Amino acid sequence: MICIFLGAPGSGKGTQAKRVCASRGMKYIGTGEILRENVSSGTELGKRVKATLEAGHLVDDATMIEIIEEKIKNENSFLMDGFPRTVLQAEALENLFGKYEKSLDAVIFLDVSASEVTKRILGRFSCSSCGKDYNVHINDIKDERCPDCGDALLQRSDDTKDTVIERIEEYSRKTAPLKEFYEKKNILINVCGTGSVDDIFKRITEALDNKN
Ligand code: AMP
Repeated sequence: MICIFLGAPGSGKGTQAKRVCASRGMKYIGTGEILRENVSSGTELGKRVKATLEAGHLVDDATMIEIIEEKIKNENSFLMDGFPRTVLQAEALENLFGKYEKSLDAVIFLDVSASEVTKRILGRFSCSSCGKDYNVHINDIKDERCPDCGDALLQRSDDTKDTVIERIEEYSRKTAPLKEFYEKKNILINVCGTGSVDDIFKRITEALDNKN
């Protein structure tokens, strides 16, 4: 199966996408995660995109399309989280699917309001050593220590108030039009993204099962 997860920053795409991949044996391709890994290991790409990520802007389309081509060309069952993010990226993805003879099965749109995503982003933390994700609105992490391993919890460097506002504006300007793009192709599945992580996962699982 080949899937795209669409939704505002903070809508829960990453959390849900990883669960879906684990339960269906699909490869997780998260472009934000790929870029952050490059920034933290100081690669040429990382150096080039660091300031863009910190400002909450989008990395240029050509760079992103090049990254995604490498990631998907030898995969047959995968889920993309964070790509495409512009209509140009979506069109390029269609060309790549043609080139490598693949076809898209579903686009899941996680529907969450702008005020809710802002609250979620500003409350999220991850463990500096085991990598587990937490949110102050769900987990008891007041001492900013990982409940599992006790190490320090950190916030993403682009999860600050100013950057969040910019990321949500970038989303509305450039990514939100993708909803209509995929709606017209009859491939978009709207999933309510509020409620517990388990409930949202159930809704997504049902939606994907009904596709088969
Ligand atoms: P995310 O983890 O998906 O919220 O992505 C974090 C940041 O990575 C975004 O704010 C962008 O700066 C960059 N990024 C990730 N995916 C893309 C993409 N498809 N196009 C452009 N920039 C991206």
